Amino acid sequence: MDARTKHETFLDSGILKKIQSVKNDDSIINAANGTAIIKQKSYFDFQYELLHDKYKNLVDRIYANELTVLPNRRKFEVLMNKALLKDMNGILVLVDIKNFNQINFHHGITFGDQLIEKIGTCFQRNVSDESIIGYLGGNTFSFYCLRCDSHEELLLEIGKVLKTISNDFADKLYLKATTVAIPVNIMRGCFEDYYKLADHLLKRIKKEDKELLYFDHKQYAEEITRRKLVDYVNESVEKMKYTMVYQEKIDSTTGKVVGLEALARLKKNNVFISPNVFIPILEQSGAIVDFGTNVLEMVFNDMNTIDEKYSDSSITVSINISPSQLKNDNFVNQIRELIDTYKIDMTRIEFEITENVFIDNFTGCNELIVQLKELGVKFAIDDFGTGYSSLKYISILPIDTLKIDKSFIDIISEEKDKAVVKAIIDVAKASKLNIVAEGVETIRQVEILSDLGCTIIQGYVYSHPQRLNEVDVI
Ligand code: C2E
Ligand code: MG
Ligand code: MG
Repeated sequence: MDARTKHETFLDSGILKKIQSVKNDDSIINAANGTAIIKQKSYFDFQYELLHDKYKNLVDRIYANELTVLPNRRKFEVLMNKALLKDMNGILVLVDIKNFNQINFHHGITFGDQLIEKIGTCFQRNVSDESIIGYLGGNTFSFYCLRCDSHEELLLEIGKVLKTISNDFADKLYLKATTVAIPVNIMRGCFEDYYKLADHLLKRIKKEDKELLYFDHKQYAEEITRRKLVDYVNESVEKMKYTMVYQEKIDSTTGKVVGLEALARLKKNNVFISPNVFIPILEQSGAIVDFGTNVLEMVFNDMNTIDEKYSDSSITVSINISPSQLKNDNFVNQIRELIDTYKIDMTRIEFEITENVFIDNFTGCNELIVQLKELGVKFAIDDFGTGYSSLKYISILPIDTLKIDKSFIDIISEEKDKAVVKAIIDVAKASKLNIVAEGVETIRQVEILSDLGCTIIQGYVYSHPQRLNEVDVI
């Protein structure tokens, strides 16, 4: 075995500590067979030096980055936690280089690595000694500024470094950053807690296309309230706290109820939470799929009561279906099972989807709709005109109904807006689609819509969403 293999074997067998203890044990040198032991000691010395170097190397590699000279996440965590033990006056700043993926794409990964190295070095040279700087990997740098009151200075320095580097290249890079700053005195915690919060906020402001967030005490309190709401909304799915209300769709020429839209309701401390608040929360957590299943079951369960209340078994009931439900591979099977359980005549059910579901996967979505239509289900495009599809798609989508969004109805008395609604109605009619106007609040709007050829009306002008036990049909 050569020296190198031996020393690697030593390291792997984890006896570094044993060697250290032998080396430090003087009694071995004083033993009777001095020569042999002295020989052995020098061998250990040799091994010890090799191992010590390798160990130091390993420690350096564990705690420092290969690309930058800066502490990596682990080291930064140790340093920040140490500083937190001394006082709670600091501020954690995460800086995410914004267009880094594009830079990697256009200039190559090697260039990207060199750029990270350069940014790291510049931060280290130019940012004040009052800060601990780290490179957390990817395109994220971290700063723990020891004094809250000097954070503005720090942010300025960071901005200057990025600008200087951007200008350093012949082909200007336009380095930009998304930055989150959290004063650590907003809560008691360690690096892990602040990092989790900062990372979450970073993702949020990126989505909102903002560049800087200074997270103060007020925002922290709002965040706590929001988290409680998010937990409540998500837990309410399992606890079956949602209920259904139904809003009538009226034929304005006869005054007859021709359909109902099922709308979910949730209360917290006896106050309603708007679906416009809880639906996005459910979408984000993924609980929307289970929620959607519960909604289908609640509506199917209500079908008999609906028939009794309206003494009309031809009324169509519309259910809002979220894009995540449609993306779920098991959706069609699930509907089949529900039909079996509830013995529902699916020709009386309409699924309301938004035009955006077609953006990601037009063909897949089309096929799914065709399969569901074979089961009898009808389809409506909800909030038409607010999404991305264009009028030309109307004729090729396998749908039955178009619901004109409230935002068009609100301004329908304006001549030019009336012309837009007329165009939508004309194209829909030419494609043999039903048209429903939603969010209709005044008789004047009903009249204009009627003149334009739309007579199915959903809106407060006729009725608000109500629980089935409140329905009072004459
Ligand atoms: P949507 O599907 O477009 O439903 C119509 C919304 O407009 C309902 O709001 C309804 O109460 C409201 N509305 C109806 N007429 C009027 C009016 O004349 N004036 C005004 N100002 N509003 C009117 P809601 O119930 O708050 O629901 C909001 C959205 O939440 C729904 O819009 C739908 O996208 C979503 N949503 C509601 N329930 C469910 C559900 O069970 N599943 C899913 N996936 N989404 C749902
Ligand atoms: Mg709807
Ligand atoms: Mg709508």
